[in-house]
Amino acid sequence: MALRYCAGSSAYVPQRSSMSIFTRQMNMEAQSVAAHLNSSGFIRSQGLIGGKWIDAYDGKTIKVCNPATGDVLTNVPFMGGKETNDAIASAYDAFVSWSKLTAADRSKCLRKWYDLIMAHKEELGQLITLEGGKPLKEAIGEVSYGASFIEYYAEEAKRVYGDIIPATLPDRRLFVLKQPVGVVGAITPWNFPLAMITRKVAPALACGCTVVIKPSELTPLTALAAADLSIQAGIPPGVVNVVMGNAADIGEALLASSQVRKIAFTGSTAVGKKLMAGAAGTVKKVSLELGGNAPCIIFDDADLEVALKGTLATKFRNSGQTCVCANRILVQEGIYEKFANAFSNAVQSMKVGDGFGEGVVQGPLINDAAVQKVEKLVQDAISKGAKVLVGGKKHSLGRTFYEPTVMIDVKGEMLISREEVFGPVAPLLKFKTEEEAISLANDTNAGLAAYFFTTNVQRSWRVAEALEYGIVGVNEGLVSTEVAPFGGVKQSGLGREGSKYGIEEFLEIKYVCLGNMN
Ligand code: NAP
Repeated sequence: MALRYCAGSSAYVPQRSSMSIFTRQMNMEAQSVAAHLNSSGFIRSQGLIGGKWIDAYDGKTIKVCNPATGDVLTNVPFMGGKETNDAIASAYDAFVSWSKLTAADRSKCLRKWYDLIMAHKEELGQLITLEGGKPLKEAIGEVSYGASFIEYYAEEAKRVYGDIIPATLPDRRLFVLKQPVGVVGAITPWNFPLAMITRKVAPALACGCTVVIKPSELTPLTALAAADLSIQAGIPPGVVNVVMGNAADIGEALLASSQVRKIAFTGSTAVGKKLMAGAAGTVKKVSLELGGNAPCIIFDDADLEVALKGTLATKFRNSGQTCVCANRILVQEGIYEKFANAFSNAVQSMKVGDGFGEGVVQGPLINDAAVQKVEKLVQDAISKGAKVLVGGKKHSLGRTFYEPTVMIDVKGEMLISREEVFGPVAPLLKFKTEEEAISLANDTNAGLAAYFFTTNVQRSWRVAEALEYGIVGVNEGLVSTEVAPFGGVKQSGLGREGSKYGIEEFLEIKYVCLGNMN
């Protein structure tokens, strides 16, 4: 594979002679993995429409880069409205036959897809590390997590029950059918290149819908590899389509089409609002998994070990780049100093580097813009009186690596408490009472995930009920699972993904009244 670099994405200048030995090793490791994936067919460079691998109609392409090294992994088509309309037409045609299969037949296809993904979890994990930067162990964890939705909905496909309603007149029979909504536009972000797709596509397919997937332009390769496996699993052509490129044009086409009956979106709140407004034109169903601003509350009565482990897990997963990462760590005054010191010691020992490196737990941020945002928020906090205990600047590895950071004396009005940091920075705020903690925690437009640590059972109930969030972790920092409903309240979104509730988002309710039944 040729050594090329993504232009304009970084101040980094690719002078091979000036590279450190470490950087060179890092590049070589990633390149040999990329070459292997390429030769074994895991790097796909075309979109998928109606079961065919397709280039952009005007031949335009866009680079996909490794954020750890800057190497170009491949070029993928820069598609737009025309390709999207064809993908919609394919999905619409395929819907006719796919929705008529028995649930058991769809279930078998999904189960095969799950088996294939699990059989290739190493390769898919490597792809996620290559294009997203996530440490390999974590990336392989995402593959298992992503696949779990396919397995779960392969089972759930058989349990889409309707209802019989006791009739109000003797010659009537009333019942409720649940039917697939139709073609679904699934738009996903870069931070979970596989799981954010399977969380939507698996329930959609299980109940008979077909999909047009639009992965992030930053991480389309995992989506394409997963779609390839769906074909190998026997999922018919047109049921799963993948387009990528001009996000605004693709979004427009999905919104404008009356054949697309549902938009399932994960991403930023700003884009989610645009899609929600755009969906009004054709009155589509919409589910939105948007940004968070998760509080993580450590009460004086918390078990310190449990609180440290849980907070580290929720804060530093994917280098702080998840929607459910703790964004504000609220610590009660009696335990503040002790917690801050123990937490800083743990953070200091985190190994940063290329996701393929031995023992690496913190990879790079996705791009320069992500680093600049983190720098802006840290500088704002410092200028308003916060102090850095650990980190606080770009990592010596350069590029988009940022030091795992702990800040104290952070206040609720600082930008870092108001915006999603989406980076490895842990801001510690101090509070006195339970009421103050709840008020600080709820003082945001976001409402996705919240966490708190306490050993007091009554407080567990009280605080869990008072937090205005869709997901609450009590003495636990990792809460995502396919069997539980995932989603937010307030401006963090609409609808739920995962669990028995997730499939409802892809179903319409039809009431049938049979008359003259005597
Ligand atoms: P983003 O910028 O909103 O992008 C998400 C997806 O939307 C990408 O595929 C993007 O395409 C596409 N997009 C952008 N503009 C569009 C438009 N006008 N029409 C249609 N599609 C459009 O978000 P991101 O930066 O990738 O992801 C990070 C955000 O996602 C964070 O806010 C995070 O909290 C949130 N997130 C939420 C959840 C959850 O479950 N609630 C989970 C993960 C992430 P391109 O990338 O090709 O531009």
